[in-house]
Amino acid sequence: MSKILITGATGLLGGLVIDFLLQKGIEANEISALARSEEKAKTLKNVNINIKVGDYNDYDSLVAAFKGTEKLLFISGEDLTARLSQHENVVKASKESGVKHVVYTSFQRRNETETSPLGVLAQSHLLTEKWLKESGLNHTILKNNLYMDYIPSFIGDRVLETGTIYLPAGKRKISAGLRTEYAEATANILISEGHENKVYDFTNIEAYSYGDMAKSISEITGKTIQYISPSINEFTQALTHAGVPTESIGVLSGFSVAQEQGDLDVTSTDLKNLLGRNPTTLKTFLKTVYSS
Ligand code: NAP
Repeated sequence: MSKILITGATGLLGGLVIDFLLQKGIEANEISALARSEEKAKTLKNVNINIKVGDYNDYDSLVAAFKGTEKLLFISGEDLTARLSQHENVVKASKESGVKHVVYTSFQRRNETETSPLGVLAQSHLLTEKWLKESGLNHTILKNNLYMDYIPSFIGDRVLETGTIYLPAGKRKISAGLRTEYAEATANILISEGHENKVYDFTNIEAYSYGDMAKSISEITGKTIQYISPSINEFTQALTHAGVPTESIGVLSGFSVAQEQGDLDVTSTDLKNLLGRNPTTLKTFLKTVYSS
């Protein structure tokens, strides 16, 4: 019987978790991967991972796929409009199929009210956490801060040309971590005991403002980079004028304003403890991105 089932296994985080499980000595035949089709799971099948075809929108497919699973890594879906019903399906199917323990990738926040600039993203995570708690299932909630991997796209591709980081995040900080380190810590949870009904903050041990990042990039590149924090209206107008799609403006402003309100400035040693070492700092990451 395969013990661990990974949903979102064809995605970046899920794929990394499977790599870490294999590296840490878990046999491929003890790992199952949920995929929306056999075709999408070809690479995983080639390394002898058990493939279970299922879709978050199809409840029966989930019940069938989850049968025999001890630990389920439930990776949140990416479709914000469908996510609520999808997540309800996953929690209910876990219960019906007798999963012993669900590890869920949630999100980092301070503000859990409707006033949060990340409200649209937050609602399905908050409800999923509630459903898991009410289900009676053993569960572990991972409150994932922003993947540090996305910070360069927030800073903008042309930062070295323009010499400017332009985001409405004020002076407040973000405690982002690398996706690969979230994946490694998640794999460590899946292969060890004692994580039932716990909540972990997946954050870095230090946080940075965009002002700090401008300073770091200036030091790394020898070019002066300034940070400008416009009002949200100025920001929206400037990006609309530059032809940036509305959806991208929404993501950039949502995260920036949340940061400006201190929502993402949570530092914790949970990730460090689960990794058994300090997480990669944003300063080190920026060096790898901007030093070439
Ligand atoms: P990703 O590469 O986009 O992977 C998403 C995974 O979810 C894929 O395997 C995808 O399957 C699967 N999926 C989507 N809809 C599904 C459905 N209806 N049924 C079954 N599987 C479905 O994302 P990631 O980078 O691994 O991140 C994992 C999750 O973290 C995302 O889905 C999102 O909820 C969240 N996230 C967090 C951050 C952060 O900064 N913390 C940033 C972005 C996203 P297919 O291969 O079939 O599409």
